[in-house]
Amino acid sequence: MRIEENFSLREYNTFKLNVKVRWFIEYENESDLRKILSDEYFHSLPCVHIGGGSNILFLNDYYNGIVLHSAMRGITATMEEDSSVLLRVAAGERWDGVVEFAVGNGWYGIENLSGIPGEAGGAAVQNIGAYGAEFADVLASVECFDIETGDKLVLSKDECAYGYRSSRFKDGKDRLIVSSATLRLQSSGELLRYGGLGDGVENMTLGDMRNSVLERRKNSLPDVEKLGNAGCFFVNPVVEEDVAAKLAGENVNMPVYAMPDGKVKLSAAWMIERCGFKGVRRGNVGISDKHALVAVNFGGADGNEIAALAEEIRQSTMRRFNVELKTEVVYIE
Ligand SMILES: Cc1cc2nc3c(=O)[nH]c(=O)nc-3n(C[C@H](O)[C@H](O)[C@H](O)COP(=O)(O)OP(=O)(O)OC[C@H]3O[C@@H](n4cnc5c(N)ncnc54)[C@H](O)[C@@H]3O)c2cc1C
Repeated sequence: MRIEENFSLREYNTFKLNVKVRWFIEYENESDLRKILSDEYFHSLPCVHIGGGSNILFLNDYYNGIVLHSAMRGITATMEEDSSVLLRVAAGERWDGVVEFAVGNGWYGIENLSGIPGEAGGAAVQNIGAYGAEFADVLASVECFDIETGDKLVLSKDECAYGYRSSRFKDGKDRLIVSSATLRLQSSGELLRYGGLGDGVENMTLGDMRNSVLERRKNSLPDVEKLGNAGCFFVNPVVEEDVAAKLAGENVNMPVYAMPDGKVKLSAAWMIERCGFKGVRRGNVGISDKHALVAVNFGGADGNEIAALAEEIRQSTMRRFNVELKTEVVYIE
């Protein structure tokens, strides 16, 4: 177990904010996690669990509490009789490493989720999605620990309450730490050629699909190693059908996507671009000129500057479209 006092989280958040935390604790196995959760001092301080820090925003320069991080690794595969494969992945595994492993073994289901930063635990919390695929599509079960009691629980997919970029873990009401996720992948299947991925490619393989996704991402998102960011800052708003129809009538070319439940998803990026924010800069922070949903740190920013720009965008889209944008990025105070 690694315990650091007054520790900089700069390498643990993709905004590259130089936030200091009173205690940083990284555990390598369940027995250490149990020890932490049974410690009285631990329960006397605020605590947040992070993964790869690719979807969080620390609002202040100092977090006066404990930041927990899982260094638990391990991927184990169990073949099932019906040609599916159960892949149990420890929370501290890098998500894209999991995808690479699955694709390398010829297992279908997560190839469209290639290249998403962060860890497997974070993927389970955020219900990551891209190119028509979502983490919840392949999730079989999640193992987790209750922060308050230290009890271990195994939750079925239904019990995880997954929705669009949301989950029981994200809403944080019952404070659960994800320790592993078990995915059900397929050893044969169809590729999901979402949005023209692989158009014109015959006999496309899983590896080709992964490469197409990685290429598409490289061209459409800023490189997180060069420009601090957390991917899409806002989720796409979901509205009632009549609201969407009115907006589409008033705004030529406004993209609208019908959802299976009858509601309609709007494009937050389109609205932000129409409000003139794509490529803007406010001091140390701004909005990427590659993607209107991505807030960036040009260097030296603090969390409040990023949050202030996000608030300016929220108010502007509210005024122009009467639609409220909600953050995908998790704020930590
Ligand atoms: C360049 C870039 C591109 C991105 N593209 C996409 C994309 O295409 N699709 C998409 O869905 N997302 C995308 N994201 C967002 C991000 O990568 C995902 O949300 C990712 O799953 C976050 O995982 P993480 O490990 O970094 O979690 P963190 O950002 O560290 O944490 C996210 C949340 O999960 C909680 N958490 C993390 N680990 C645990 C755990 N083990 N137990 C309990 N709670 C935990 C944290 O408290 C926090 O609430 C992108 C981000 C970047 C920077």
